[in-house]
Amino acid sequence: YDPILDAKFKYLQPPPFRILVDAYELVANSKGKSSKTIQKDVIANLFRSIIVLRPDHLVKCFYLCVGKFCPDHQGIELGVGNEALYKAVARTTGLSIKQIKQQENTTGDLGSVAATGKATQKNLTSYFSKKTKTIPHTISDVYEGFWKICNLKGQNSTALKEDELVRLLNQADSDEAKYIIRIVQKSLKIGASELTMQSALARAIAMTPPKQAGFPPAIIKAKNAESIEEEVENILKKSINECPDYDKIINAVLQYGPDGEDLSIITKLCNITPGTPVKPMLAQPTKGIQEILKRFTGIEFTCEYKYDGMRAQIHILADRTIHIYSRNSENITEMYPDVIQFLSSHIDFNVVRDCIMDSEVVAFDAATNRIKPFQDIQHRGRKNVDINQIEVKVCIFPFDMLYLNGASLIDIPLSQRREYLKSSIKEEPGLLQFVTHKNVSVFEDIETLLWDSVKIGCEGLMVKTLHENATYEPAKRSLNWLKLKKDYITDAGSDSKMADSVDLVPIGAFYGTGKRAGVYGSYLLAVYDSLNDEYQTVCKTSTGFSDELLQTLTNSLKDFEVPRMPKNYRSFHTNIDVWFKPEMVWEIKGADISISPIHTSAWCKAAPDKGLSIRFPRFIRLRPDKKPEQSTAPEQILQMYYQQSSVEGNNDELI
Ligand code: ATP
Repeated sequence: YDPILDAKFKYLQPPPFRILVDAYELVANSKGKSSKTIQKDVIANLFRSIIVLRPDHLVKCFYLCVGKFCPDHQGIELGVGNEALYKAVARTTGLSIKQIKQQENTTGDLGSVAATGKATQKNLTSYFSKKTKTIPHTISDVYEGFWKICNLKGQNSTALKEDELVRLLNQADSDEAKYIIRIVQKSLKIGASELTMQSALARAIAMTPPKQAGFPPAIIKAKNAESIEEEVENILKKSINECPDYDKIINAVLQYGPDGEDLSIITKLCNITPGTPVKPMLAQPTKGIQEILKRFTGIEFTCEYKYDGMRAQIHILADRTIHIYSRNSENITEMYPDVIQFLSSHIDFNVVRDCIMDSEVVAFDAATNRIKPFQDIQHRGRKNVDINQIEVKVCIFPFDMLYLNGASLIDIPLSQRREYLKSSIKEEPGLLQFVTHKNVSVFEDIETLLWDSVKIGCEGLMVKTLHENATYEPAKRSLNWLKLKKDYITDAGSDSKMADSVDLVPIGAFYGTGKRAGVYGSYLLAVYDSLNDEYQTVCKTSTGFSDELLQTLTNSLKDFEVPRMPKNYRSFHTNIDVWFKPEMVWEIKGADISISPIHTSAWCKAAPDKGLSIRFPRFIRLRPDKKPEQSTAPEQILQMYYQQSSVEGNNDELI
C-alpha cells in the first residue's frame, strides 16, 4: 500500500470511456503490413495511460477491451437478446425497428446504425439531451452498467436489462454507442484479438513502472523496458494459462511489477488453484506408429487408451466442494450430480485435502461393463441434471494429477504425476477407472495396444513422454502428447490423408432445393485465426447430415443469421444466401487438404495468393464443448497439409 499514490488517485478523474473508444477506432483503422504493430502500440499506450492515471481502473479497461466482464469460468453473461437490443437502439435513436433492421441490412453492423442514429437523431430525446448537459461516460460507468445488466435476474429482468442498456446508450456519444452495441454483440470488430490485448498489456507493464507514476506516460519508461517486455509477456501468459483470472493477475502485476525485482512472484500468486480451471494441455495428431517412433526416438514414452467422452477437469477444494470444468473451462458441475455424489463419498479427504485431476468422462454400461459411444453422453442436459432421472451412466477415467494438497504438480514429469494420481485416488469398477496404459516402445506392441483399445470402444491411443520433457503444459498443443486415432492411420487403410478430423465453424449457408427445400442445404465452414481475430473459409459441405439434423440445424442457426458478411470473415464467397454469427462448432472429417484459390485459410502460407481447403468434407458431430474461437486454427490445417504423405517435404519446423 502506497499512501502517496493512493492520495493522488483520489484527485485524478476516472478515465473517460472516450479514450477507450479512440483507441478502438485507431486499431480498427490500422491497415497494411504494420497493422499488428500499430494495434499493439495503440493499446499498449492506452493501458500505459491508465496505469499512470488510475491503475485501479486497469482491470475494467482490460475487460472492456476483450469484451468480457469477469473470468470465463464464472459463466456470467449479459443475457441481452436480439429483440431487446433492437428495442434499445430504437428507444435511443428514435428510429423504428423496421428502419433499424433495414439500415443494418445495408451496413452489416448494428453498432454503426446506432452511431449514425445518434448522430442524426431529431426527436425529443435529442432535443432534451442537447438542452441538458450529459456527463461523459467513464470506463468505470460503462463496465459497471454492463455488470449490472449481467446480474439482473428474475421475472422482469428482460425489461430491466433493456432499460439499463438504454441508459448506457443515452449517455453515450455516437462512437461510444457503436462500441456499446458491439460489446453486447460480443465482437468489437476492430481486428485485434485477445492475444493482441495480452501482448499490449505486457508491453504497457514493462514500459510503465506503476510506482513511478506520473504524466505523460511517454516520458517515463522503465530503464530496461525492451529487455523485460518478453519476460513480462511470458509471465503474463503463463499466469493466464494456469489461472485465467485477469482481475487477480492484473492486480498482482500492478502490485509487484515491473520495478519490483522479483517478477516471478506474479506467477507464484497467480498459479494453478483449485476452483479456477487450468487451460487444458492438448495433443498433436499423428498418422501412424512410425511417425510416433520417429518423434520419440531416444525418449521414454507411455501409451494410454484414448477414451471417447468429454474432457472433465475435476477440482476438489479444501472445503470439500467439488467442481467440474469442461475442455473450454466452462463449469459443468451441474451436468454430473452422480459423479459429484460418488466422489464426495469415495474420496478419502484425509489423503486428498484438495486437488485438480484431468480426466475423460465416458458413457458407460455397468451391466455389460462396456464403454458406450460419445453421443450417449450428449443426451444429458448441461444444467440442473436431476440425479434421479439419469439414464446414461458415466465412468470417470482420470489420466493426470495437476495439483495435490496445496502444491502444483505441473512442473514434475508425468511418471511422478501418475504416481500421485494412483496413490491418492482409489479405483471403483464402472465408476472410476484409471486410463489403461502400457509403457511399450516396440512397433508391434504399440499396434497390439492400439487394436485392443479400439476393441473396447476407444478412439485409439494417446502417446505421452514419461520422464524427459514430460511436464503438464497448460493450453499448449504439445509435441509431448501425440494422438493416434484409428480412423486416421494410413497403414490401417484409412480413406483420409488427414491426420485428424477438424472442428469448424459454420459461417454461411445456401438454401436447399428439391428434397432439401425449406432448410439450409449446404454450409460454408471456417477456421478461426486468433492472431487476426478472423474466420477464414476452408470448405463447403452438404454431406453427413440426416434430414432431421438439417431441420434442427436450420432452426437453431436461424437465430444467428446476420444481414451481411461480418467484418472479421475472410471469404471470397459472394453468392452465399445467408451469413451467420460464429456460434457453433462442428467436427468434420475430410479426405485431404489441398491448395485452393477460393478458400482463405492459411492464406499465402503454402502457396502464393492461395489458401488451403479440405476436400470431401463430411459432418461428423456437433462439438458443444468448444467455442468458435476454439475451432481448428489455420496453423493446424497447414500442419496437416504438410503431414499428408502425398506432400513432399519435411514439416518438422512447422509443428
Ligand atoms: P483437441 O483437444 O486436439 O483440440 P479434440 O477436443 O477434438 O481435439 P481429440 O482430438 O479427440 O479432442 O483428442 C484430445 C482429447 O482426448 C482430450 O481433450 C481428452 O478429452 C481426450 N482423451 C481421452 N483419453 C485421453 C487420455 N488418456 N489422455 C489425454 N486425453 C484423453
